[in-house]
Amino acid sequence: MSEANPCIFCEIVARRAPAARVYENEKTLAFLDLFPAATGHTLVIPKLHYRDLFEADRETLPAVVETARCVARALRTALRPDGLGVFQLNGRAAGQTVFHYHIHLIPRNEGESLRLHGREAAGRERLERDARRIAEALETG
Ligand code: AMP
Ligand code: ZN
Repeated sequence: MSEANPCIFCEIVARRAPAARVYENEKTLAFLDLFPAATGHTLVIPKLHYRDLFEADRETLPAVVETARCVARALRTALRPDGLGVFQLNGRAAGQTVFHYHIHLIPRNEGESLRLHGREAAGRERLERDARRIAEALETG
């Protein structure tokens, strides 16, 4: 993906592009990655557009981390993975492909390869089903 306008994550925030939403509040949104590296691969973003860690403001970052914390717990409840990878890339050289700040939450299981990006798009139905499972776990605490 390029840096072309409009930003796909801003389009998702504005509901002009589809996404399997897991959780949102005033400042942040969590939704499933379209090319999941694993079941439950979730992206947590600020609703305002910041390119990366260097641009993100000091008030937004704690809100994103708090949402990541809540969603991480829900992923653990819903999917019972062996572990959870938390990744955040800044700049093309670091592997960033969407230039709207985001944190990856990737459930990991023993023996699975440590990929950050999936190779194939997941079906929308599967993503919506997984998102509902995770959202339910969030609601039940
Ligand atoms: P990064 O390489 O850290 O910039 O990760 C960007 C992530 O966004 C990748 O894992 C992509 O699979 C994911 N992605 C790109 N477009 C979409 C989309 N429309 N909906 C959900 N995830 C997306
Ligand atoms: Zn954006």
